[in-house]
Amino acid sequence: MSNNPTGSTTAFTGARVIVGDGSTVIDNAAITVRDGIITSITRTPGGAAEQVQGGGSSPQTVISFEGKTIMPAIVNPHGHIGYMRGTVCDPRCYSRRNVIDHLRRFVYHGTSTFQSLGTDWNRIEVGVRDDQRSGVLDDPNLATLFTAGSGLVAAPEPGLASGAPFFAVDAVHQVADPADARAFVRSLAVQQVDVVKFWIDDRGGTATKLSPETCRAIVDEAHHHGLRAAAHIYTVDDAKIALRAGADILAHMPRSPEPDPELIEQLVDRDIAVFTSMSVQGPARTDWLDDPLLHETLPLAAIEDLRARLTARAPEPLFDTGETYRRLQQNFATLHQAGVRLVFSPDTGVFAQLPGIAEHRELEALVDAGLSPLSAVEFATRRSAQLLGLTDRGAIDVGRRADLLVLDADPRDDITNTRSIAAVIIEGRVVDRDQLRQQLQADSDD
Ligand SMILES: [Zn+2]
Repeated sequence: MSNNPTGSTTAFTGARVIVGDGSTVIDNAAITVRDGIITSITRTPGGAAEQVQGGGSSPQTVISFEGKTIMPAIVNPHGHIGYMRGTVCDPRCYSRRNVIDHLRRFVYHGTSTFQSLGTDWNRIEVGVRDDQRSGVLDDPNLATLFTAGSGLVAAPEPGLASGAPFFAVDAVHQVADPADARAFVRSLAVQQVDVVKFWIDDRGGTATKLSPETCRAIVDEAHHHGLRAAAHIYTVDDAKIALRAGADILAHMPRSPEPDPELIEQLVDRDIAVFTSMSVQGPARTDWLDDPLLHETLPLAAIEDLRARLTARAPEPLFDTGETYRRLQQNFATLHQAGVRLVFSPDTGVFAQLPGIAEHRELEALVDAGLSPLSAVEFATRRSAQLLGLTDRGAIDVGRRADLLVLDADPRDDITNTRSIAAVIIEGRVVDRDQLRQQLQADSDD
């Protein structure tokens, strides 16, 4: 799928380029793009605005980004699309239209690709994804959607609640027994979901938790169909249940008690992907609500409503006092130093994780937890693309898509500079963010 099939080339010149590999930065670079794909990265010859002759007779457009910093567009492998409206996450807001609104918000804020993890309702997400893949939904201003379809939770026993996430109780499948789990995973395989999601969580003793036997049935059936299985867990004990069942991905870091050597060894040996999911659990700060970026697309009343809820410590933080968050940061450092494959995870679309904004907050959380800004960018780009099996994006590299986030300031100086967005480029095309902003504002108002 190409937005620019004319054979013409575009050169983006003069910017500092953060490649996305965790270390390489090229000053005064020229990125040449043909048919949406990067064909060369060189130092800008003879000044930023100079016309560069491409090979052969193809015309070339030169766009100067002198003084800017370019990083790869963000790839987000963990969130829940379609539930948030303004700043409120509510199952009554879920619709195809809202799913598409969120895909648009991602592109506006510099995220090219998004995976929704287990809260598809009535196959709406699978439908949007299929329409993107077939070209029926041919809107270049939408992020590419991946989806787990509907995930699996335990059917509640009498007197207990569902272990489903609060906003998606009706969207997930309540599993009766291992045979039912296998049958449901088979139905997901028919939909060609991108991953299988299941929840191992008794919600502090209030909900029924999947049995180890059922977890094994879910993962085994997923693997049988060539699908990976991602387990929601919060505790070390539940992480071990997930690993014994054969899960490939943990959707959160185990946060209580501390991860022990046995668990860490298994995570490393089996190359389990562990999602960071830090900003979603962060202390209820409100300073980020003043960022002008939020005010570009969200009504002031919605932002102030969220500020009031955060100040009142609601939506009830799963979470977290400063002290427990510091423990989470320590766990992050422990797992990272041990060589566990940690993966960028904004958990977008729930609590205060606003679509498009949450991605930037997770970058900040990773730096607060000790990563260098260049490593954090690598987490949010090349590493997360790799998790999704995508080698066509996620880094500024010859042969990959020109999905670029152009910034007014360098995130190496301050990671929150990823919010100072000068331009977003998807497949080599500069997104018309003014037009997109008007569309997002209009959608917020009705
Ligand atoms: Zn989640």
